[in-house]
Amino acid sequence: MSETLKFAVLPGDGIGPEVMDVALEVLSAATKPEGISLDFSSADVGGIAIDNHGEALPESTLEVCRAADAILFGSVGGPKWESLPPKEQPERAALLPLRKEFSLFANIRPGLLFPELVDASPLKTERIPDGIDIVCIRELTGGIYFGQPKATRTLEDGQKEALDTMIYKTSEIERIAEVAAVAAYGRGKKVCSVDKANVLETSVLWRQTVTEYFKKNHPDLELSHMYVDNAAMQLARDPNQFDVLFTENMFGDILSDEMGVICGSLGMMSSASLGVSQNRFDKPFGLYEPAGGTAPDIAGQGIANPCAQILSAAMMLRYSFGYDAIADRIGNAVKKAVQDGVRTGDIAFGKTPVGTKEMAAAIIERL
Ligand code: NAD
Repeated sequence: MSETLKFAVLPGDGIGPEVMDVALEVLSAATKPEGISLDFSSADVGGIAIDNHGEALPESTLEVCRAADAILFGSVGGPKWESLPPKEQPERAALLPLRKEFSLFANIRPGLLFPELVDASPLKTERIPDGIDIVCIRELTGGIYFGQPKATRTLEDGQKEALDTMIYKTSEIERIAEVAAVAAYGRGKKVCSVDKANVLETSVLWRQTVTEYFKKNHPDLELSHMYVDNAAMQLARDPNQFDVLFTENMFGDILSDEMGVICGSLGMMSSASLGVSQNRFDKPFGLYEPAGGTAPDIAGQGIANPCAQILSAAMMLRYSFGYDAIADRIGNAVKKAVQDGVRTGDIAFGKTPVGTKEMAAAIIERL
C-alpha cells in the first residue's frame, strides 16, 4: 500500500537550511523504495521569519504545522537577531510557542556515541570502550518551570523574596512514564526514573505514581529509581548502566545537557518532542530537531554535520509515523558511514573531512 507522510519542514537559520536539505534527500531515498511518498511544506521560522514576516513564528507557519502530522525543525537564531528584546528573539519567540501550541510534553534525546567517536567524549575512553547508547526522556511542560505562583516581592525589611512552584499531578507523571516505557520496549527494556524523593513532595508523588504505573501496565519492564544527584554522578561514571532514563522538567534539563556533553559532538545529536495529540497515523504529533544550534561560525560553508538532522528525521519516522524498520536503516547507514571513516570536520579526528553533501551521499549509499 502506498502511503503519504505529511509533515512541516521548518529549516530556520544558519546551518539549519543546509542540513535540512540533505536530510530530506536521505528521508526520500529511505522511504521511496517502500512505496512511501513525502508530502512536506516548508515555512519560515526564527530569524528568517522575523526578516520576512516581522515575527519568529508567523501565523502562516503555524498553519503549515497544524495541517501536518509532524514537524521537522532545523535550528533558529544567530548574531543578527541577538540585539532584539529577549521575548522577540528567535529561540524564545519560536520554539516556546511551538511547544505550547502542540503541548509538546515529552522530550526524547538519544545519547548516542559510536565507538569510533569516543575521542569526542570528555570521559576516559576506557570507561566507554563501546561508545554510549542510552536515551534521556524529559518531561517538558510541567514542574518548576511552569508551576504557579511564580513571583518576586519586596519584604517589609526591604529584602526581596522570589518564589517558584514545583507542581506535578498524576496524569502528567503517567503520560511521561508511558513514553519511557514505549522507548524501553524498542531497546533494552530497562527504565530508570530519576527524582529527589528524599526531599521533594513532587518527587514522592512521582516515585509512587511511576511505581504503580509500571506495576499495572508494564510489569515486564525492569524499573529502577535513582536520586538526581546520584544520577548526575552515575552518568559521568558509567553512562551505559542506563538504558532509558526519565525524569521531570528541571532535572531533565540538566541531565540531558550532561548527557549531551559526554556524548561528544553536537553534530550527531538528535531529539524529539512529542505532543499530547495523536496524528492521522494514530501516533503522537511531534517536533524533531537536532540538539545543537545554528552554528553561525560555520554556516554557509557547506561543512556542517548533517547527521543530527538526519537522525532527527529518522526519529520522526519512528515516533510519529511508526516506521521503525526504516528509522533503524537510516540509523545504521549513519553508523556505517562514520565507521567507514566518512566524517565532517567536527568528528574528523585526523581524517580528511568531507562536506555536508558528501556526508549525506555516503549515508544514502549505505541505506
Ligand atoms: P551551536 O550549537 O550553534 O554551536 C556550538 C558549536 O557546535 C559551534 O562551534 C558549532 O560550529 C558546533 N556545531 C553545532 N552544530 C554542528 C553541526 N551540525 N556540525 C558541526 N558543528 C556543529 O550553539 P551556539 O553557538 O551557542 O548558538 C548559536 C545560535 O544558535 C544562537 O543564536 C543560539 O541561540 C541558537 N541555538 C538554537 C537552538 C535551537 O534552535 N534549538 C539551540 C541552541 C542554540
